[in-house]
Amino acid sequence: MKRTEIASLGEFGLIDHLTKNIELKNTSSEKGVGDDAAVLSYANKKTLVTTDLLLEGIHFDLMYVPLKHLGYKSAVVNFSDIYAMNGQPKQITVSLGISKRFSVEDLELFYEGLSLACQEYGVDLVGGDTSSSLTGMAISVTCIGEGEEGKIVYRNGAKETDLICISGDLGAAFMGLQLLEREKAVYSGETDFQPDFTGKEYLLERQLKPEARKDIVKFLSEEGIVPTSMIDVSDGLSSELKHICKQSKVGCHIYEERIPIDYQTAMMAEQFNMNVSTVALNGGEDYELLFTVPLYLHDKVSKIKGVHVIGHITKEGLGLVMETRDGTEIELKAQGWDSIGEEK
Ligand SMILES: [Mg+2]
Repeated sequence: MKRTEIASLGEFGLIDHLTKNIELKNTSSEKGVGDDAAVLSYANKKTLVTTDLLLEGIHFDLMYVPLKHLGYKSAVVNFSDIYAMNGQPKQITVSLGISKRFSVEDLELFYEGLSLACQEYGVDLVGGDTSSSLTGMAISVTCIGEGEEGKIVYRNGAKETDLICISGDLGAAFMGLQLLEREKAVYSGETDFQPDFTGKEYLLERQLKPEARKDIVKFLSEEGIVPTSMIDVSDGLSSELKHICKQSKVGCHIYEERIPIDYQTAMMAEQFNMNVSTVALNGGEDYELLFTVPLYLHDKVSKIKGVHVIGHITKEGLGLVMETRDGTEIELKAQGWDSIGEEK
């Protein structure tokens, strides 16, 4: 494969090269790449801003993450945060720290992924920066979006008796990561990393090419529903419920049997000897939307395809409770990402 050294283009040449095909789609993007700053116009809207830093070796492993997928995911996880505010992502800026290990062709792949995500979600890439780094790759993405006055949804609006809803299914991205890590360990030392993932495609897709739930935000708006609180699931259901309950000053009661889990996730968890509910509660990187709505919206919200009602909001003093399949009530703990392996 052709390898062009980044130095042969220089910093400005590189940015020109990577951004030459960008066409602005949104009216709020007045000026994109090419001047000292981008110019955005959010006349009658609220502006939402979110940012994310991804470091090689901490947040991603290029041993099994293709650069195109990495570009796609870097953008999508930021869009997800804007949707979690009931907003629409409109612009991103992308900054990269890149070591000599990477060629112009590598960055082209990364930008292909970025551009694909921008195209699919109607977002403009309006700026960024590149710099050489001593080791590895660092990616910083900032996403700007719009929200309507009165319709922005925070984490702090959940009320007692509200229904707790989740889109899609949980735990698949985490099992995808476990699978990739296992294969990496098996193949360590071998130059050709070509494991067989037949029948596990969904898990890999959820880990490597996640999607943000633009569709759910659209359905909610079409149904005239403004959730009382909302958050995207990046660290795991338990942790996100904790954020909502803490900020809304409420408790919650969810039912284990109602947590949506895909068949491949359940199969893989069994193979790994992991409790599938623990995986769904604590895995993370699902980028599903967790939200609450008033009780009277039960019929309306359960009609939305891919949305599951998993429980309800309670009084603050009652804590965070999950009722297990055999009817036992246990306290939910946010385990986070790292400790799940040690869990029984
Ligand atoms: Mg978030």
